[in-house]
Amino acid sequence: MEQYNNTPLLRLKKNKEESLDRFHPWVFSGALTHMPQPETEDIDEGDIVTVAANDGRLLGRGHFQVGSIAVRMLSFDPEQEIDEDFYKARLKQASALRRAIGLPSPRTDAYRLVHGEGDFLPGLVVDIYGSTAVMQAHSPGMHFARFAIADALTELPELNIKSVYYKSETTLPYKARLDPQNDYLLGSFIGDTAMENGLRFRVDWLRGQKTGFFVDQRDNRALLRHYSKGRRVLNMFCYTGGFSVYAIDGGAEKVVSVDSSSKAIALTDANVALNFNDCNIHQAAATDAFKYLDNMEAGDFDLIILDPPAFAKHRSALHNALQGYRRLNAKAFEKIAPRGILFTFSCSQAVSKEQFRLAVFSAAAQSRRKVRILHQLTQPADHPVNIYHPEGEYLKGLVLYVE
Ligand code: SAH
Repeated sequence: MEQYNNTPLLRLKKNKEESLDRFHPWVFSGALTHMPQPETEDIDEGDIVTVAANDGRLLGRGHFQVGSIAVRMLSFDPEQEIDEDFYKARLKQASALRRAIGLPSPRTDAYRLVHGEGDFLPGLVVDIYGSTAVMQAHSPGMHFARFAIADALTELPELNIKSVYYKSETTLPYKARLDPQNDYLLGSFIGDTAMENGLRFRVDWLRGQKTGFFVDQRDNRALLRHYSKGRRVLNMFCYTGGFSVYAIDGGAEKVVSVDSSSKAIALTDANVALNFNDCNIHQAAATDAFKYLDNMEAGDFDLIILDPPAFAKHRSALHNALQGYRRLNAKAFEKIAPRGILFTFSCSQAVSKEQFRLAVFSAAAQSRRKVRILHQLTQPADHPVNIYHPEGEYLKGLVLYVE
């Protein structure tokens, strides 16, 4: 293999350098003159590689991986050393942005510190819960860098991190055969209660989905709290009950939480109990959301939240996903009380804002009700979108007023 400064040098086909010149952080395998094969060549998944244009101009460095995205760029400086100091500098930048937006604060100690490409660290997610960092690698390169990253996290005094839990069994590409073990890389269990906008949540990073809590709905939950007073609230796909706790706090008349997972229902009940003594306006049901909507009476709820899991994990599933959003929203439009408010979301990266809107609009048209948009929602500022990587904007939401 061609080398540059002790790294494999990968060359792009003619005229394929434009997206890297515009700082887009992905190199697709089809853009390379030759896609290297770890079985027969001197390169491994997760290696740091240098990328060059066809004419030899050096463009930067990144992590190599076998797949349609062959390189995730870490730096557009081809001389950049990718070592612990590099990770430390990137984490410092990430931390400075969180401080600029007021995180953490006395009311919120659950937040995202690293949002992949949005923090110039493609393949890495780090969520913070108090003094614990929960880290997920999505690329072999970040898997191999996990100890350097964990050290860097605990060495930045402003972060005050005491434990680092690594949770990548389900996020790393299965084919890479990395056999990651979910475990503490540094420190150990030091409590699992985190705070968001003054409300408390138990976060189960050992057994829960993703890093244990969906920190990306923080701002949207605060908006929901504002609309909850006196309303009968139905929280569909409640997971740990984030929206339910805010609704109760906002003065809802009654709150029903629904999730198909009985573990999620138990967590929701526990989180309600953690925040409110003897709350008698909340009920939780472990059942399928579609069935629940089919069986409920029209008019029983005047605020409904639909926050389903990603219906499309890949582009190939797009058509079915859009049908899924349309069907789900149509059921809510059919059943929501007059002058009701619908909070509806999609967290599928493969579904664009326009496609999601269209699915919701056709569901509204099907119900023949008058519907107006009150808010258009997205992910919070601790999930920043790198402007050179617009794909990083994944959470889409609409707040609708239904006559
Ligand atoms: N709204 C949540 C996050 C939702 S995650 C929050 O604010 O934290 C999606 C949830 O949908 C998961 O808990 C999953 O168990 C649940 N789920 C998936 N399919 C479902 C279905 N068909 N009916 C009900 N819940 C479902």
